[in-house]
Amino acid sequence: MGPGVIEKLRRVEIDPGSIDVILVTHLHLDHVSDLLPFLKLKALADRRPFKIFGPPGTGRMLDLLISDRRLFGYLLDLGCSDLMDVHEVWDDVLELEPNILLKSKPVDHFNGIAYRIDLPSISITYSGDTVPDPRLIELARGTNVLIHECSFPADKLKGKHTSAEDLLRIAAEVNPEILILTHIYPEMEEELQNCVEKLRESFGGRVCAPKDLDVIEVRPR
Ligand SMILES: [Zn+2]
Ligand SMILES: [Zn+2]
Repeated sequence: MGPGVIEKLRRVEIDPGSIDVILVTHLHLDHVSDLLPFLKLKALADRRPFKIFGPPGTGRMLDLLISDRRLFGYLLDLGCSDLMDVHEVWDDVLELEPNILLKSKPVDHFNGIAYRIDLPSISITYSGDTVPDPRLIELARGTNVLIHECSFPADKLKGKHTSAEDLLRIAAEVNPEILILTHIYPEMEEELQNCVEKLRESFGGRVCAPKDLDVIEVRPR
């Protein structure tokens, strides 16, 4: 639910109002900034309830933002809090629906978690933001699709993130069918093609570094 998600859903012809489950990996702005616009959209549109999964602190953050009159307290008047059902998760396995399993694992990034979704036909693991973390590797083992952050080249690595060189090792260990690189900082952009080529040489699966709105076809197993 980072910036621009609502508008980009519209551009791929998905009605944002039809979303009924949101997975939040951590509470940094680039991962939550469209949550409040989404809340308002739901309140003004169909008013169908929806679930938000996130790490501990997710409920408190939302409560503060929509209950304090100096912030966005008017959203309470729109009945936003009645629509959302917040589930705080950490190291958990939940059945979202019959045959849809959601797993979460803590990773080393400011109270962050990674997610894995297992459907009958495919499994997808998303790292969120993280340093290289053995718990993520454990979570992702055997997954079909790994969406992993690749923030910086190794010599420019800042903060609790994963470098392109780290990702070479992670991809070799997890060995997914499709590896999708995401969370590319400007410092990484000029290195990106080089990184994708190295990954393709060293790792048997498909490697994608998509731009916004690209479509990646995945074959069910
Ligand atoms: Zn972050
Ligand atoms: Zn981030």
